[in-house]
Amino acid sequence: MSYRGYEPVIGIEIHVQLRTESKMFCADATNFDAADNENVSPVSAGMPGTLPVVNKKAVEFGIKTGLALGCDIRRKSVFARKNYFYPDMPKGYQISQYDQPICQNGTITFKVNGVDKIVSIQRAHLEEDAGKSNHSGNFTLINLNRAGIPLLEIVTGPDLRSPAEAAEYGRAIRQIVRYLDVCDGNLEEGSMRCDCNVSVRKEGAKEFGTKVEIKNVNSFRFVEKAIEYEIERQIDAVERGEKIIQETRLWDPDKNRTFAMRSKEDAQDYRYFPDPDLLPLIVSDQWVEQLRKELPELPIARAKRFQDEQGLPEYDSQVLTTEKSIADFYEATAKISKNFKASSNWIMTELMRELNTTNTPIENSPIEPEALGKMISLIDAGTISGKIAKTVFQEMWESGKDPEVIVKEKGLVQITDSSAIEKIIDEVLANNAQAVEDHKSGKKKNLFGFFVGAVMKASKGQASPDVVNKILQEKLK
Ligand code: ADP
Ligand code: MG
Repeated sequence: MSYRGYEPVIGIEIHVQLRTESKMFCADATNFDAADNENVSPVSAGMPGTLPVVNKKAVEFGIKTGLALGCDIRRKSVFARKNYFYPDMPKGYQISQYDQPICQNGTITFKVNGVDKIVSIQRAHLEEDAGKSNHSGNFTLINLNRAGIPLLEIVTGPDLRSPAEAAEYGRAIRQIVRYLDVCDGNLEEGSMRCDCNVSVRKEGAKEFGTKVEIKNVNSFRFVEKAIEYEIERQIDAVERGEKIIQETRLWDPDKNRTFAMRSKEDAQDYRYFPDPDLLPLIVSDQWVEQLRKELPELPIARAKRFQDEQGLPEYDSQVLTTEKSIADFYEATAKISKNFKASSNWIMTELMRELNTTNTPIENSPIEPEALGKMISLIDAGTISGKIAKTVFQEMWESGKDPEVIVKEKGLVQITDSSAIEKIIDEVLANNAQAVEDHKSGKKKNLFGFFVGAVMKASKGQASPDVVNKILQEKLK
């Protein structure tokens, strides 16, 4: 992608909130709906004399994410103090990891407009979140519920080359952490926040330009827009002969632009040093290997298996693997129906439509995968027609009943008995004598479909379309 002869260079840092019950270094709860400052013990409040204790679950989630991103897991990582003062960080430092992060040197592959993009993961480190300042009028209220919530900061190499790639990268990370069930991926609640590092250079140039960091972008659409804006702003500046200043900016979604927040600190400004309250974090080979075994099949591998082993088209395999819950639903359906493509079709069309219009997550679907699978088997066995199946499906959605029960109760079994169908056909033809005349004399073409429709209607959709076709063809010869 060309921008007036310049190439953008982008690196992303995503803060992923790990969905543990308790905080990174103490037992305070992490629920989002807590009352202000409800989840604040002396540790979260940064009282002198308190001591942090590492949350094992957060470490586990960090390792799992690192493994899914192909990272090396450090057997010894070190928590460090990153010193800076904010009213919402009463300790005066954030506990983070600095030169010895738990995960490093990984990669992620994802699709951008159908093409594979590979991005390096420099590191992923554990840290704690800060609290929240709520500014109102000329005073500020502090809520420390967030203070100490575990985060995994995932940092890419400067490998992204367009705003669209950056946004897709974010979506790919979200998909993975949701597959791993280590983060709820809820951007509105701040469970994933992106810092976007952007620079521009002349096309063909070897050196990177000076980067600007856009902090705390909370949606992937804004990631795309903010980077797009920033690229143009930087090119304008360079074209005017100005130097890009290394700084931190913020995205203003109302004004659709970034604005300067502060000049960028260097690492030395933070005076990082190992936290003397915490021992180095040692993880055993055995634990890492156990967690590796527990990893679920990830979306790309799963989509490939759906194509290679189950013959699904690429499109289906991608839609079905967007969420683990959908892929699980699909596989449970196909296990019963033994019909991969039909299971995919029913889920992607009928089921997704109902789920979307009623805003129901697939986990709460009133139709269980086993029931849907059974319904598809009924079609394949010829017990019900595809058309009747739609009625059965609706009834299943509304009542949650078993498809066989619905078919029995409503008398929806497909009519395959040719003499019964012939009787219906004879009636339809007798009632449409003129049309039969026109069809036979060739006066009107394409009346065949009309007859099929009339017969299906007369049979309340229950006649087997195959049998109807066969008999009609005979009769109308
Ligand atoms: P800092 O020390 O300023 O935090 P890092 O080297 O840690 O910088 O990189 C932070 C992020 O910025 C990473 O995602 C990295 O890939 C990205 N990055 C580094 N240099 C550039 C650049 N010149 N242009 C765009 N992104 C960059
Ligand atoms: Mg950095």
